[in-house]
Amino acid sequence: MTAAILYGSENLKIESVDIPRLAADEALIRVKVALTCGTDLKVWKRGYHARMITPPAVFGHELAGIVETLGSDVNGGLKVGARVVPSNSAPCNVCLFCRKGQSNLCEDLLFNNGAYAEYIRIPGRIVRQNMLVIPEHVSFQDAAMVEPLACVLRGIHETNIQPGDTTVVIGCGPIGLKFIRVLANRGVKVIALGKRPNQIRAAERFGARAALIATDLSDPAKSVREMTEGGRGADSVIEAVGTAQTWEWALQMVRRGGTVNLFGGCPRGTQVAVDPNSLHYSEITIKSTFHHTPRFIREALESVSLGEIRSSDFVNAEIPLAELPKMFEHMKHRNGEMKVAVIP
Ligand SMILES: [Zn+2]
Ligand SMILES: [Zn+2]
Repeated sequence: MTAAILYGSENLKIESVDIPRLAADEALIRVKVALTCGTDLKVWKRGYHARMITPPAVFGHELAGIVETLGSDVNGGLKVGARVVPSNSAPCNVCLFCRKGQSNLCEDLLFNNGAYAEYIRIPGRIVRQNMLVIPEHVSFQDAAMVEPLACVLRGIHETNIQPGDTTVVIGCGPIGLKFIRVLANRGVKVIALGKRPNQIRAAERFGARAALIATDLSDPAKSVREMTEGGRGADSVIEAVGTAQTWEWALQMVRRGGTVNLFGGCPRGTQVAVDPNSLHYSEITIKSTFHHTPRFIREALESVSLGEIRSSDFVNAEIPLAELPKMFEHMKHRNGEMKVAVIP
């Protein structure tokens, strides 16, 4: 089969490799569509990911496809030919974190990569917990949105955002836009802060009440506060960029008693300035949600199934697998601006 193999930093090759062999509890999926993701771009630049991928390795984690083969021990009603969306991870369910209901922090979280290929092997643990059958009316491409959407839905849940709230979303890449879409759809007044005019237009299209270009403002935190009731600040702020500056803005935009979700991961070694005085006396809650759990994988498929999120709003190109290395070169300087559908 043809597969994209990551060899290291900015070194991705399309090669012919053997179709993966299955253990008794595993499944082989014929990939119908794989989506690029900001995380993949980050891993491609760095050449590895401490927890997710050690090169040389098959690559890519957002996909949907058809069950080609099942190991002899796979049960649960799954059939060859079923349309499925396998998640990129599954927890162990026995470690301390899993027992405490924080399986996204599982000490033995099993990650799976290899979506950029004709076939992908799905480990037993994911087959058992995190591979869902796609409803008939949902397309493969829409179903492939489940993984990033699960992270977003969990982020909203953890931030405890209610209808009628005012929420600031910093960052209008594919993740920020998903937050905006879902929040607006659920009756939240969203103020979006982005970098480029096209992102701002997208934020407005997705339901933001106001969308601002950060670089147009001398003090974005001040400008945003002025747009909230009595200038008090927002009920909650979602930071979906991952820089020290935007983390600091987020902490300055929230009202007393509000919640900030520092959703965007900063590079190792980043230093962020916080004002302990305002943190304490304004009773600000800081959350920083990472990854997803099986519960939110299911909620994400439900959301897609209801039409809350449509891939056509996020995917702006479709390419064959052979063009993927070139596409990463192209995306290199356009961090997270687009999602591309790869058809193996
Ligand atoms: Zn992803
Ligand atoms: Zn665990």
